[in-house]
Amino acid sequence: MQTSVHIDSRFPAMGTTIFTVMSRLAAECSAVNLAQGFPDFQAEDALFDAMHRHLRAGRNQYAPMAGMPELRTAIAGKVAALYGAAYDSETEITVTAGATQAIFTAIAAFVRPGDEVIVFAPVYDSYVPAIETVGGKAVYAHLRFPDYAPDWDEVRALITPRTRMIVINSPHNPTGALLSAADLDALAGVVRGSDIVVLSDEVYEHILFDGEAHASLSGHLELAARSIVVSSFGKTYHITGWKIGYVVGPAALMAEFRKVHQFNVFTVHGPSQLAIADYMQDASRHLGLAAFYQEKRDAFRQLLAATPFELLPCRGTYFQLARYERMSELADRDFAEWLTREVGVAVIPVSVFQPDGRDDKVVRFCFAKREETLVAAAARLQRAFPGQS
Ligand code: PMP
Ligand code: GLN
Repeated sequence: MQTSVHIDSRFPAMGTTIFTVMSRLAAECSAVNLAQGFPDFQAEDALFDAMHRHLRAGRNQYAPMAGMPELRTAIAGKVAALYGAAYDSETEITVTAGATQAIFTAIAAFVRPGDEVIVFAPVYDSYVPAIETVGGKAVYAHLRFPDYAPDWDEVRALITPRTRMIVINSPHNPTGALLSAADLDALAGVVRGSDIVVLSDEVYEHILFDGEAHASLSGHLELAARSIVVSSFGKTYHITGWKIGYVVGPAALMAEFRKVHQFNVFTVHGPSQLAIADYMQDASRHLGLAAFYQEKRDAFRQLLAATPFELLPCRGTYFQLARYERMSELADRDFAEWLTREVGVAVIPVSVFQPDGRDDKVVRFCFAKREETLVAAAARLQRAFPGQS
């Protein structure tokens, strides 16, 4: 259908998110999709049974705006048990339609036109569009290649009177890097005495390897007092399609968050909140995630060792970065497309997360897949690059 309006696009340069682009291409080419981050295995029946129970029990009308009390109580219990933080489930926890909505809502609640928001490149792809939608300006700090560590002196130098927010993400997508307790102390030093709000994207909080502990901002008293912390059940319980997440933060910040949330989604799908609340009662389901994914990470790394890819460290998340310099001179976007079309394995080019398009010849694999999927992908890669490992 033709439109009769002249559109003066608000985002003339904005394309479609890389995750949609690569998943579409993967389907078109019947490639093994190790691009977009989602599990190709099923969650447990107990979760679906719980959802069914609540549907049939008639819990099908609007949940309270902030989320089902049962789920907020379960979240408060989990965050207290893991990070020693006491968030009030009435006033300091809000259930969201996934982390994406949580992040967008937090940015809309605090960032005004002309405000600056510091983000770290490579940067997860939803942050900057959210900042720009509300008229803010993204200011880039850089994670150092190839260990993707932040430089807090650089961050300090980027602070201006317009800095409203700093967005951090650990475990980090796409790099698999972690922030340490010392990083949090350094960040606290940077923002001390200011009114900067910290937005902490911790959707992979349960996926850390080799015994590393997650440094949650919830557990850092000084930072928690100025932070909105985001998590997502999609990652934790293998249900990315349910789009349920949550935020925790001090009551005064949460009150501002809810001013936007109530007119953004108002409230989130109820029966799935109740099902998750039931499912969370067994803490081994989130606590066991690290070991579950460590096994997949190790198996996948072993499979890739028989290819010419050079693997970067993966300390958390379900993403593995790999350099392909020995295999191709293509730019990473072209390499990702070529790999999808010609080899039949879809990946994400990491330069899409770089504001200046910086290309370190690195692609991201998602290993949240069944063993046979990973084996099939590796077999295609080994066939495409015989004897080059
Ligand atoms: N932040 C990061 C770092 C992510 O990787 C993702 C999703 N993969 C999200 C936010 C969005 O999570 P959700 O699907 O719950 O919206
Ligand atoms: N965050 C997921 C990833 O990194 C994808 C989420 C999405 O498709 N928006 O692959």
